[in-house]
Amino acid sequence: MKPSYNTSLLLDHLNTAIYVLRLKSNESLNFDIIYANSVNKEVIGTDLRKFVGTDFKTSFPELFETKLPLLYYTSLREQRIINVGEVEYGDCQVSKNTFIIKAIPLSHQEVMVTYNNISRLKKAERELIKNNLTLKEKNRSLEEFAYITSHDLQEPLNTITSFVEIFKDRYDGQLDETGQMCLSYLENSATRMSDMIKGILHHSRLGTNVTITEVDLNETMQGIVEDLRTMIADKKAVIQSDPLPKLKGCDVGLRLLFQNLIENALKYQREDNQPEVIIKVEPQDNGWLFSVKDNGIGIREEHQKKIFQVFQRLHDDQSSYKGTGLGLSNCMKIVKVSGGKLWVDSTYGKGSTFFFNLPKL
Ligand code: ADP
Repeated sequence: MKPSYNTSLLLDHLNTAIYVLRLKSNESLNFDIIYANSVNKEVIGTDLRKFVGTDFKTSFPELFETKLPLLYYTSLREQRIINVGEVEYGDCQVSKNTFIIKAIPLSHQEVMVTYNNISRLKKAERELIKNNLTLKEKNRSLEEFAYITSHDLQEPLNTITSFVEIFKDRYDGQLDETGQMCLSYLENSATRMSDMIKGILHHSRLGTNVTITEVDLNETMQGIVEDLRTMIADKKAVIQSDPLPKLKGCDVGLRLLFQNLIENALKYQREDNQPEVIIKVEPQDNGWLFSVKDNGIGIREEHQKKIFQVFQRLHDDQSSYKGTGLGLSNCMKIVKVSGGKLWVDSTYGKGSTFFFNLPKL
């Protein structure tokens, strides 16, 4: 094969090494090397062009012993492209590497072989698998650590709570105002700490032992509205929702996600305001984009990232807005485990819209 100058230029500027073999008529499975592009030199460090005119068996005896000549021959005989796949190779001319090889018949006698060196890719792939395993193991022990510590912390806390109860029953009437105030602080702090510990326990378990089923989000929404009935009535809130899709996911996780966002939308409101919550959904290439919009107090731009972190609250004062600061970090974990993203767009004083996407499984 004699490519014209332009073809040759083109072939020399591919990212793929190419050589062309012509079947020798007098020898089985041996070939004459009739063309090689210059890319061979970059890929294997040897300029195959200097072997043009020689035969395959003499120039590459080690390669001749592999399955390659038979595959090239099969490609010619059956007139079809053969994806040889990954081949490890290295001889005195070529250092040991992994190549991905393809044989393409050009005629009944001539076969074009294309190949690339994917050793670096393979190495990166091996490292990725190794790092992934390490990461999974670290995650697992972190979850175990969170579980064990929060479980063990619960014990002494239960003791404190019990003694506060006993103390209150026994001495409540005998305490002066300061004593009663101290006791009330003690009681509230113990309850709050207990909520936080339960919260960590819950957060660490999220995403583990997940069962995937088909979830009708309209039913999920009905359940949430039912659960929040009192809050909705007290605040005279209006909740509007698009018809929602059915999707494959963890029903408990999805329920928690929608419930946290809607509850926050109702909770973070000025006292005199009538809450309006609008839930929308639109299809995306690979799933859905959901949004939960409120007309609440809004979030300053500089706080819009940190609210998704564990225990981050913008209101430490529990009297105006109660909470543990775990709701949004739970939502984030649920969305991430499902392969989606969660973010907020908000104007301070006007309201917020939480967006999240969930992929189709
Ligand atoms: P919690 O509600 O228990 O404090 P979250 O993790 O759900 O915990 O929320 C973290 C913080 O983000 C809240 O304390 C609040 O300051 C802010 N936040 C969450 N949702 C809204 C909302 N819809 N509007 C205004 N602020 C919000």
